Amino acid sequence: MLEYKLYIDGQFIDSSDNSTFDSINPYDKSIVAKIAKATVNDTRDAIKAARKAFDSGVWSDKSGEERSAIIKQIADKIKENTPRLLELEIMDSGSTYKKAKDDMFLTYRAASTFSKLALVDLSEDIGISKEGISKNLMVREPVGVCSAIIPWNFPLQMAMWKIAPALAAGCTIVLKPAPETSVTAMELAKLIDETDLPKGVVNIITGDAEVGEEMVTNPLVDKVAFTGSTEIGKKVMNLASASMKKVTLELGGKSANIVLDDADMELAVDGSVYACYFHNGQCCVAGSRLIMTNKIYDEFVERIKNKLAKMKIGNPMDKDTDVGPLVSEKQQKRVLEYIEIGKKEGARLVYGGGIPKGFDGYYVEPTLFADVTNNMRIAQEEIFGPVLSVIKVNTEAEAISVANDSSFGLAGGVWSKDNDRAMNVAKKLRAGTIWINEWHLLNDKAPFGGYKQSGLGRELGLEGVKAYTEVKHIHVDEILDRKKKFWYNVAVPMDEA
Ligand code: NAD
Repeated sequence: MLEYKLYIDGQFIDSSDNSTFDSINPYDKSIVAKIAKATVNDTRDAIKAARKAFDSGVWSDKSGEERSAIIKQIADKIKENTPRLLELEIMDSGSTYKKAKDDMFLTYRAASTFSKLALVDLSEDIGISKEGISKNLMVREPVGVCSAIIPWNFPLQMAMWKIAPALAAGCTIVLKPAPETSVTAMELAKLIDETDLPKGVVNIITGDAEVGEEMVTNPLVDKVAFTGSTEIGKKVMNLASASMKKVTLELGGKSANIVLDDADMELAVDGSVYACYFHNGQCCVAGSRLIMTNKIYDEFVERIKNKLAKMKIGNPMDKDTDVGPLVSEKQQKRVLEYIEIGKKEGARLVYGGGIPKGFDGYYVEPTLFADVTNNMRIAQEEIFGPVLSVIKVNTEAEAISVANDSSFGLAGGVWSKDNDRAMNVAKKLRAGTIWINEWHLLNDKAPFGGYKQSGLGRELGLEGVKAYTEVKHIHVDEILDRKKKFWYNVAVPMDEA
């Protein structure tokens, strides 16, 4: 059986109390790996290692070119080891082959993009306030030691979305994967150890809330980068506020998918199924609220139902499987509970709703609810499973209003053959990413994040690197022999300011 240790200060070590936990394959409930479980003391050691590495300047003093080259080494390691990582990701998370293959590529792509972004000088000269006398420089510096906490739905990709921008900015980091899916993060530790990255710059530990809370509250940490549920995100924000740590939060969603009545029907049906059911709906940007006018409603619901009936439920390792298991028994139970809630609320169950026959793992059928109203819990709460709620409206304006009537604002989408019309709707949607005739495509150079309770700050792109920096203004007076008067006689009179 596979065994993994904690990665602290460039060493692979057992937990200080020798405790371990098993990683379970959600397809057949077999044990994939035995993994060391970090204690609070181990967490403190990892943070101390990151602090020591940061303060020594061993990473932050390197040039952008040097940092870029080492991040590229990590990217190349991912590429070389894709077959192994892919297999482990499927076993550990229940991701289908198709989804996990994409994840491997996207992990590699994120590392490659951030290796390029490490070359960008983020500091600017913001002008001379008085010709020849003083200069104003804006300097971007690494924020320091970062704690990164990630969820289970895109395990390796989420790890890279944290590690690569932190490294690009010159930070050091302690990363904790979700307990359900720690295997590929621990494999990543081994790959990072084979690169020229100095010891202690990246530390990877395991565990759940207790370890997470230490990572958020420890005084040696400067910034917390959290991806997970809105509920835990609020807790993290609260805990971090005691020491006013910098925080970025990538949280949940209940993304609205608006199909306008002039949409290409075949494309919109296909795209709406992909938007909601990709990775069994265990996706923060899942298009889980489908909104359309009564003109196309009945036909659209029928077409979605027919698509769902054709999806292949199977072993996630098989290349043609569309629907694999959910990540855990807990998640399966949660999704089944929401299906019962939907029925009780009076939504019409059009398809699915149960556990498919012939599988031992944590499966749930792709499930379709029609006649949902936006005040129902299945329209307002993040289910994080393969459950689509279809809402009927009378007008385009009502579709926009319903879409925005949500405490979340992570993503959204519009389907229409008329680009201007679609763009007009897209601009009115209050969410961080909007797709037009598309879903799930992200660009590593474009900022990603949420409005409202879907998060705080942005990941990816230069915005994503800046999130790991502090800004310093350096005001330089270059004429040292000039007679200056301080106090009320300010150097620049108000009317010249
Ligand atoms: P979760 O909030 O339960 O857990 C996320 C992480 O937080 C895990 O590593 C967990 O161990 C840790 N954690 C739990 N309690 C903690 C505490 N008290 N203090 C610190 N850390 C703690 O989320 P999950 O169930 O693993 O993942 C699903 C959620 O993640 C969904 O809500 C989904 O929308 C969200 N998500 C968001 C994005 C995004 O980019 N916006 C991406 C992926 C997933």
